[in-house]
Amino acid sequence: KAYGQALETHVADLQGSEASPALAALVQLTSSMIERTREAEQQLRDASKQMNELRGNLAEARRVAESDALTGLANRRAFEAKLRRAVAHAREAAKPLSLAFCDIDHFKKINDTHGHDVGDRILKFVAQRLASVSSTSCYVARHGGEEFVMLFQDLEAEGAKKLVDEVRADLQDRRLVAKQSGEPIGQVSFSAGVASLAAGENGRQMLRAADQALYRAKREGRNRVVIAEA
Ligand code: GH3
Ligand code: MG
Ligand code: MG
Repeated sequence: KAYGQALETHVADLQGSEASPALAALVQLTSSMIERTREAEQQLRDASKQMNELRGNLAEARRVAESDALTGLANRRAFEAKLRRAVAHAREAAKPLSLAFCDIDHFKKINDTHGHDVGDRILKFVAQRLASVSSTSCYVARHGGEEFVMLFQDLEAEGAKKLVDEVRADLQDRRLVAKQSGEPIGQVSFSAGVASLAAGENGRQMLRAADQALYRAKREGRNRVVIAEA
């Protein structure tokens, strides 16, 4: 820009003066170059503006692709990417990593009794309760349907279980009421299975172990948190 301005000043000086034909041609050439530079500058500004818009669109598309529309939590796709990163980090730093698989109890009955919309509200509510634990070391996502996953960095299964159990206990003590109709829904609970990353294990294996522990929690009467067998 400074170069262009300097050129412009000199060209303006020369244009007024009695110059040789060669110099006149040079002045003409320089003037047209200045004009083109101006156009190029404008094009650059337009392109840069467009790039910023696209960058914004990309960030928004990424946010939508990684979050669950109903609950606003991270979705399964985002969780799987996070799990891969967390497993790699835990191995590298030799730190513990735990995972909880949570599933709302008798959710089908809630839907059947109160309707799908109330079911959706319960899902949002439970998501919000679970998300209350989330922090830099706890990541919460909706895995699908009425199932949620929680990833605990730097925590062994016992520590993770304690946190999940606090949410479970808080939820079971509430008596929910449908907002629109005022109809009592009563107690809502969830069961969870917790597993830790064992040496040589991958994320998928830890997830499977947590899922098996969840199955045990269901079998043993629901509304409880069970740690996977080693
Ligand atoms: P369990 O205690 O054994 O987990 O029983 P359950 O009834 O919770 O389990 P089941 O897998 O039989 O039912 C899950 C239900 O969750 C069935 C499905 O219609 C419902 N569901 C899944 N996604 C949604 C959703 O986004 N909104 C609503 N309202 N219901 C959903
Ligand atoms: Mg389920
Ligand atoms: Mg269920």
